[in-house]
Amino acid sequence: MTAVSLRDVWKQFGTYTAIEDLNLDIKDGEFMVFVGPSGCGKTTTLRMLAGLETPTYGRILLGEEDVTLTPPGRRNVSMVFQSYALYPHMTVRQNLSFGPEIRGEAKAEIAGGIDRVARLVGLQSLLNRYPSELSGGQRQRVALARSMIRHPRIFLLDEPLSNLDASLRTHMRTEIAELQRQLGVTAVYVTHDQVEAMTMGHRIAVFDQGRILQVATPSELYRAPANKVVGMFIGSPRMNILPASLARAGDMVRVRCFNISFVVEGRHFVKDPLPENVELGIRPDEIQWVKDAPSRCTETITGIVTSLETTGSDTFVLVDVEGSEINAKFPSFAPVRRGDAVDLVFDPLNLHFFDGETGASLKGNAANQN
Ligand code: ATP
Repeated sequence: MTAVSLRDVWKQFGTYTAIEDLNLDIKDGEFMVFVGPSGCGKTTTLRMLAGLETPTYGRILLGEEDVTLTPPGRRNVSMVFQSYALYPHMTVRQNLSFGPEIRGEAKAEIAGGIDRVARLVGLQSLLNRYPSELSGGQRQRVALARSMIRHPRIFLLDEPLSNLDASLRTHMRTEIAELQRQLGVTAVYVTHDQVEAMTMGHRIAVFDQGRILQVATPSELYRAPANKVVGMFIGSPRMNILPASLARAGDMVRVRCFNISFVVEGRHFVKDPLPENVELGIRPDEIQWVKDAPSRCTETITGIVTSLETTGSDTFVLVDVEGSEINAKFPSFAPVRRGDAVDLVFDPLNLHFFDGETGASLKGNAANQN
């Protein structure tokens, strides 16, 4: 097992800065997920770990070893891509044996390796098939098996499930997470699917415009996003952002939003004085329809239903409140229709507050909330 460190890493392509002063420590055996919008630098960072790109500045360490300038073949890391890149004219067995043969490994060792990885990913009965005779999920399993055959120090995966249909993706993400757990190998997984990130990662690094905005466990990211971009990126449907104003009132802070006003405990806020321009973040599942709300939720906002989306287990309702749209989770098949007036309540303890200028969270970390 190997820890990974990126120290003060920059990557420039000509005059374009793709990665800006990135620092990250990934623990031995950790499953780290890189997530973020398209073009934010996830793949570039992964390629630098693989040795396929060299940082313009900074250092990359695998364990104690500085590999910044070490070529890919001498790093013993393996990478799985979105495209399976299997050789079409070779059977699964030949695809798996090709790399070890090129490296000059002994025949018996290669056969043992194929047996081991085929068992791990459930390919034993498919070893004599050609890639064209496999489903997308089976092809991706071959790509995974191929990357595991030489006991890599780290396992790098770049959107490996993007080509699969929704149900296979769900299945394969469980399989990959389980496989990583069994092997105990450090893994870095790139995706722009936040559900994949939340379900697979021990920790998640949220990228935006070449920088890491936050590195935290899935629950920390969800409960205590460091800024508005993270808050809106993590969680589906996305967090509602509403204009608000704050004022300290002794130990408390008074919050005004739409036509309601309430107080929350002042110790949660790390910034003093509080900025004038504030945005309040509230997740759709933290807003409740009045008929369904527990008694401690007292702040009521009234609005008009503009649309409804029923998933079966839930109904997401868009409600217009004074010109702002709020997405709220209602019970499954709630008896509301477009045009209905509805009362919404929320628990002040579950709110997020962001600086309206910088987007930074005004609250401390997860440990000192609630
Ligand atoms: P996606 O999710 O779309 O794959 P990403 O977060 O992985 O995006 P990168 O592929 O790392 O993003 O790209 C980061 C930025 O660097 C992008 O603006 C991209 O256009 C740019 N970039 C990447 N590789 C090169 C290159 N070889 N030459 C010039 N620019 C590049």
